[in-house]
Amino acid sequence: MWTLKMVGLGALALSLSLEVLCRLFHRLRPVKALNEVHFFPSEVACVERIFTPSSTHLCSCPLPHGVDTSFSRLLRHVLSASSSMDLCIFSFSNMDLCRAVLALHRRGVTIRVLTDKDYAAITGSQIGALRKAGICVRCSVGSGYMHHKFTVLDGRLLITGSLNWTLSAVQGNAENVVVTDQPELVQPFMKEFHRLWELNEPAGNVSTRANHR
Ligand SMILES: [Zn+2]
Repeated sequence: MWTLKMVGLGALALSLSLEVLCRLFHRLRPVKALNEVHFFPSEVACVERIFTPSSTHLCSCPLPHGVDTSFSRLLRHVLSASSSMDLCIFSFSNMDLCRAVLALHRRGVTIRVLTDKDYAAITGSQIGALRKAGICVRCSVGSGYMHHKFTVLDGRLLITGSLNWTLSAVQGNAENVVVTDQPELVQPFMKEFHRLWELNEPAGNVSTRANHR
């Protein structure tokens, strides 16, 4: 009886230590970093499925379907945001990217957009549509262009490169986009976004805030 008890306890101790070791291994195992490079112009393909993944409706538009492109990957990354999106973009006229940002906004993702004051007003700019939807937009107040093209999603994923969020850039230009979740790259971009966001605070808000001090 005593031997049986000892064997039972030994087996229990062994399984417990195996579980502890297992958990430790999983915790210490490095999570695979996300690093992607995409080049443009992108192949032109239908992106409807990306917006409505659960829909059973088959799209009948003339574009190729089920094709993975640089643009479809970019869209998927943008739509992966679940809590926040900080976007610094020089020119924003791409309707699909606008649709993606509006979809995030409807999902409750906190969005801040910083853009160039001159390009926000050009024909085809989607900045007005974002504002109309209630998304917080600030325009640069400096004399130089606000020429960045980057976004940080959920404070963990950086999308940056030469690509303006325009149709001509996506379909016509030689451009690059890097997607990474490496903290040493994401953090400086977050810091720079916060710096620029504060720097370009509308004058009205500054005085309101000062009055409340
Ligand atoms: Zn289609």
